[in-house]
Amino acid sequence: MRILVVEDETRMQALLRQALEEESYAVDSVENGRDVFDWVSVYDYDLILLDVMLPGMDGFAVCKTLRQQQIDTPVLMLTARYTVDNRVEGLDSGADDYLVKPFAVEELLARVRALTRRQLSHRSPDLAVGDLTLDTLNRRVTRDGAQIELSAKEYMLLETLLRHPNQTLSRDQIINHVWDADYDAQSKIIEVYIHNLRRKLGDDDNSLIQTVRGLGYRVNGDKRD
Ligand code: CA
Repeated sequence: MRILVVEDETRMQALLRQALEEESYAVDSVENGRDVFDWVSVYDYDLILLDVMLPGMDGFAVCKTLRQQQIDTPVLMLTARYTVDNRVEGLDSGADDYLVKPFAVEELLARVRALTRRQLSHRSPDLAVGDLTLDTLNRRVTRDGAQIELSAKEYMLLETLLRHPNQTLSRDQIINHVWDADYDAQSKIIEVYIHNLRRKLGDDDNSLIQTVRGLGYRVNGDKRD
């Protein structure tokens, strides 16, 4: 999952980046409110963490403009001033949730998880294909009831594939969701991760994660709805 952090205070930006990257989210960051529009036009974010007090354009205006442009990426607003007005203005501008500074990192991560989960088409926090189940709440992966240990990045890659069942995801789409802008597109990192995932999942014949030659990878989902 990929998150855009919009925060001009260097220390706060570094703190947010670190907390999210430790959870293996792909993170891009900008300092100026106006820059948000350039980034969202290029990348498909799963969440925007948006500070209110920003140079260029404040967080409320950024959020309102995003919504006017029909960009419905979840927005978690960060605000330093805890007043009811501030909160209401944030939600009125189209933000999905807000967090008051200073906040505990655990709370930030819990809200990030909650907001990104809302993007799932099913209300259940579980994603399933055949005998493979992902509990997105606890990031637990089981196959035929047996728990499978994945690295955080492997998990993100698998979740991305399972969130788009029956679709072939290109390398670019996978990179877009799982790795940040520092990623070297020439490297073979995706192939390496897919290989490791298949091995850990016991997908010896590549039937679970299929290679679509020249196009990318796909997971065939259950025909539930
Ligand atoms: Ca700020």
